[in-house]
Amino acid sequence: MHEFSTMYSIVQTVLEAAKERGADKVLEINLEIGRLTFLNPEQLEFAFKVISEGTIAEGAKLKIRSVEPKVRCLKCGYIGSGIYEGPEYHTLGLPLPVKCERCGSMKVEFLEGRECKIKNISIWVKRECSLKAKPKNKENEP
Ligand SMILES: [Zn+2]
Repeated sequence: MHEFSTMYSIVQTVLEAAKERGADKVLEINLEIGRLTFLNPEQLEFAFKVISEGTIAEGAKLKIRSVEPKVRCLKCGYIGSGIYEGPEYHTLGLPLPVKCERCGSMKVEFLEGRECKIKNISIWVKRECSLKAKPKNKENEP
């Protein structure tokens, strides 16, 4: 159910951003989800459908990009994907068991792979039609 709470806050953020820009519809949402979040893309999509129902984000295309883990070892300085040694889920608040590929140290800093962010959204604004209909400045024309 981690996917539902995550998607709920994503949809709230998207709706706020869309409303600020006067959107009538959200067309597309691009997400970047790190593999170490253990969020299931299919479950995220399902959650999105349920949560966005009846909002301006309903029917929007959800694009999810998986981000591979990247860690820096605090002991030897090596940067790599690290070796994950835990189960295929994660309990929030607990440190992730990831060790350095080179020296095996568990003291690593996470550079990538734990993100869950909205890269960008595409919105449709009805109002833009009237802006485009503004008369052109003809002064520069022959
Ligand atoms: Zn190391």
